[in-house]
Amino acid sequence: MQRLLVLMLVMMTTPVFAQSPASAPTHKWAVVIHGGAGVIERSSMTPEAEKDYRAGMAEALHAATAVLDRGGSSMDAVEAAIRILEDNPIFNAGRGAVFAADGTNQLDAAIMDGKTMRAGAVADVTRTRHPISLARAVMEKSQHVMLSGPGADAFAASVGLQQEPPSFFFTERRWESLVQELKREHLPIPERPAGAPPAPAHDTAFFETPDNHKYGTVGVVALDRSGNVAAGTSTGGLTAKRWDRIGDSPIIGAGTYASNQSCAVSGTGIGEYFIRYTVARTICALVQYKGMTLQAAADEVIQKQLAPIHGDGGVIAIAPDGQVAWSFNTPGMFRARMTEGGTAQIGIYRDEP
Ligand code: ASP
Repeated sequence: MQRLLVLMLVMMTTPVFAQSPASAPTHKWAVVIHGGAGVIERSSMTPEAEKDYRAGMAEALHAATAVLDRGGSSMDAVEAAIRILEDNPIFNAGRGAVFAADGTNQLDAAIMDGKTMRAGAVADVTRTRHPISLARAVMEKSQHVMLSGPGADAFAASVGLQQEPPSFFFTERRWESLVQELKREHLPIPERPAGAPPAPAHDTAFFETPDNHKYGTVGVVALDRSGNVAAGTSTGGLTAKRWDRIGDSPIIGAGTYASNQSCAVSGTGIGEYFIRYTVARTICALVQYKGMTLQAAADEVIQKQLAPIHGDGGVIAIAPDGQVAWSFNTPGMFRARMTEGGTAQIGIYRDEP
């Protein structure tokens, strides 16, 4: 009893520090975003489309920086920014995702926490509005790392995540890309999905050329003030992919990876190459075991390994010490980044910084 009283006295008289040294801010936050890489050239983009892409990336960047600036976690920043991109129909994720060859939108996503190295991923979901939040729910509310198909959507519903009819994800522009790609490959063209709006007479407003060679996946990597990194990626995959195909985005170590011991990476490009070259993990392994800078590691994999074998694509990356990097071997990559105290940098084409 006496010891308890002494303890209480000590607690009452000990000055309360705002935060213990361990949780005091030790890092400047930073965030990098991509909205897909591919044959993105000035000549193929209307000024309106370019403006929309830059605005879309600015909005997502703002969502992430708002979280980080109020001391939020890198996981929260990644999820917040990707949800914005999933809702923006110009990006190939969530609403606006590309179509599989059977005329369905099948969505893949993953998120990884560099602090705990826990991860969650989903593949081929068709009804969940925000696949990135479902990936996080798999990580936090299930015993698993990856769920797929109808079971993944059912899990989303069971944890209260918004469900939509498949036609919610339909956009005319992506449908047009599917039809063109299937014609090119001499494959049958499926019927317009149930619930889709009637076909317009003609729609060429957005792009002057088809967008079949862009990989408009979205991804975010972030570093918070506590020094924790996180990565997330969300996508509809590749236009006219074989239905039920799974790309690199939801595969931990391929399109998405995060570890406080090395770095966090999100990729975009032809997923099959990213899977076979375990792109995200390899970049972080080069940092971890070879002591390479983040930029050199990203360039090693994207420029030296993938480019010669036509593994088109790119990555964004961030390290706990504040290094940020991007690297792509395509003519363009939608991208944005910002570090605490700095200014936002948004780019599309190769010749931009
Ligand atoms: N990497 C994605 C996939 O293969 C596509 C993309 O990046 O746009 O599914």
